[in-house]
Amino acid sequence: MQNTQGLNTPVRYLSGVGPKRAELFNGMGINTVEDLLYYFPRRYEDRTSFTAISQLREGSTQTIKAQILAKGQRRSFRRRGFSITEVAAGDNTGRISCVWFNQPYLKEYFKVGETLVLYGKVERYAGRLQMSAPEFEIVSPGNEDDSLNIGRIVPVYSLAEGLTQRGVRRLIKDALDEYLGSIDEFLPYDIRSRNNLLNLARSLRNIHFPQDTQIQQESFRRLSFEEFLLFQLPLVLRKSRKEDKQGIAHKAEGGPVRDFIKSLDFDLTAGQKAVIEEIKLDMARPFSMQRLLQGDVGSGKTVVATISALIAIQGGYQAAFLVPTEILAKQHYGKISSQVSAAGSQAKKIKIGLLTSSAAQKDKEKVYRDVKRGTIDLVIGTHALLEEKVEFRNLGLVVIDEQHKFGVGQRVLLPQKGPNPDVLIMTATPIPRTLAITIYGDLDISVIRDLPPGRLPITTQWIKSNRRPWLYSFIREQLRSGRQAYIVYPVIEESYSLDLLSAKKMYADLKKDTFKGFKVGLIHGKMKQAEQDKVMSEFKAGGIQVLVATTVLEVGIDVANASVMVVEQAERFGLSQLHQLRGRIGRGKYPSFCVLVSDSSAPEAQARLAAMVKYNGGFNIAEEDLKIRGPGEFFGKRQHGLSELKIANPLTQMQLLKSAREEAIKIIQSDPRLELRQDLGLKEKLLHRFPEYENLMAAL
Ligand code: ADP
Ligand code: MG
Repeated sequence: MQNTQGLNTPVRYLSGVGPKRAELFNGMGINTVEDLLYYFPRRYEDRTSFTAISQLREGSTQTIKAQILAKGQRRSFRRRGFSITEVAAGDNTGRISCVWFNQPYLKEYFKVGETLVLYGKVERYAGRLQMSAPEFEIVSPGNEDDSLNIGRIVPVYSLAEGLTQRGVRRLIKDALDEYLGSIDEFLPYDIRSRNNLLNLARSLRNIHFPQDTQIQQESFRRLSFEEFLLFQLPLVLRKSRKEDKQGIAHKAEGGPVRDFIKSLDFDLTAGQKAVIEEIKLDMARPFSMQRLLQGDVGSGKTVVATISALIAIQGGYQAAFLVPTEILAKQHYGKISSQVSAAGSQAKKIKIGLLTSSAAQKDKEKVYRDVKRGTIDLVIGTHALLEEKVEFRNLGLVVIDEQHKFGVGQRVLLPQKGPNPDVLIMTATPIPRTLAITIYGDLDISVIRDLPPGRLPITTQWIKSNRRPWLYSFIREQLRSGRQAYIVYPVIEESYSLDLLSAKKMYADLKKDTFKGFKVGLIHGKMKQAEQDKVMSEFKAGGIQVLVATTVLEVGIDVANASVMVVEQAERFGLSQLHQLRGRIGRGKYPSFCVLVSDSSAPEAQARLAAMVKYNGGFNIAEEDLKIRGPGEFFGKRQHGLSELKIANPLTQMQLLKSAREEAIKIIQSDPRLELRQDLGLKEKLLHRFPEYENLMAAL
């Protein structure tokens, strides 16, 4: 196996890489030759021809080749202590000035007479052409490396400080020359030909040093496909293993479910009915359900979850309902208990328990006992449910609400407490279906597309802080007509005490002045649980009219009479958080208003706020969020190695992702253990690329 050995060669043994550079590479996640070859360019520069300075267009980003004519350094007039390095550069058509800020050492670095390649945005400043802080490279005539750096499409990498583009290009070029011959294709021929894919060696060479744009794109396509395939294989595998794993065949039809649905004081929406049918069918099958329920904030997922719980319970099993906050656990407990006790005789008998970490020890002990004996049928709780002490008699269904608040690790803990129970995962940050199918490739998906009837759309406004007087008088008007309002402040972990201080101060001021004569309450996460409960129930009962809050009430809270949601320093919240907060209003029959207060001029923040004003629906919001942040950030460290994709982009390459998934399904169907084509080394490749799947693969 000389060749795998070769690719595993540590970068530090490559010629020209000493221990110091090796360390820089390691810091970038590059340890071996293979890692180096898979370190793809951030962008390319077409240096087959440069734009002549006389042809530069203002406002566009362009590449020029020019000689340094003069250099200098000065201080900024506007900002003290700020230095500006300036280089006058020219080609035989014109001159341009290039400036860099606060990098005084550059002055020594540049030599008059040297030739630079410069890449940057062209502006006009004081009547002259200028590039500010362009990327640059020194190219000297006669340099042997110029075949790599000039006269061709040149790769540009994201590099750690201390590494140069030229140096890395040389290194990658040498590594390609030395090791490419020993690189084996691991994609079976039929897959490549069906999908029109370039072979691996050619793709690697041309992703770094493309002969032309077309082959660069073909290489990009091949390498993206490969990445998608490796990323889909474990998901498809997990799904197929589930299908041959025995689970519980639940009794879908029965008295309790019928009674419960009949006694609800509303009709289920068409969307709710449809997903309940999907869940019934799935739960009745003798395999363990793994289903994701997507539905916008307020679409009525809780009642769907309750009905699913009753399905498990009517066949003699227990159900567990995991939620991210105590307030939400209590709210669900209160609401579900009263719905159940108002239901017909068969549903009424069902025993519901509540488990939160702040409960008194002896109450907790009792819940542990009753869950273990099976006298509690449905237990609703927070992370406290995940503790080892919690044992079930026969857990048949696990519901996870607001799944984005839990890590993958936490999500698997609860189902382990039963004999392959069914699992229903709920989320209000939906993503486009085609994307969902592939990204949550191991789950089945149900979607509620409608909202309960009679909901009025929420009006969303984004205002600057100088419009607070208007805002406050508007809120007072709403309060006078009987409504209630939330005012939310950002309180984040990193600046917790400072944030909290300002939230408390605002509360005191609002109470004293702005909302004098109205009842104002405060709720935040550092308050004792009992106090939080008291505030929440007063707000629910209407005893508090304005609730000043931190994000403790982000998810789930349901008070139909609240019609105003104000978010202060709205730029500090993420898009899905803002959407969740807005979801606290518009739950009753009154017109509702969401007001985002922000003076931020940061482009990303502005994009988020604009999206909130433009879109009401969670699907649109999620799509925008994906666009703004990109899939890696959007899905975060949460799951599936998605954040680890190096080259492929599920948003822009959805079709390719679909094809890769289809191939993954074919592979797993004919070769569930990935061992038929051991010669290709597919399994090794997979583990190398996504090491987090080690356990899954080992279990095969
Ligand atoms: P979410 O999907 O955000 O969790 P909830 O389950 O909290 O939404 O439901 C929001 C509100 O709508 C609750 O007060 C719930 O009782 C109510 N609701 C749910 N389904 C319906 C329906 N079909 N018709 C009217 N109201 C409904
Ligand atoms: Mg909910």
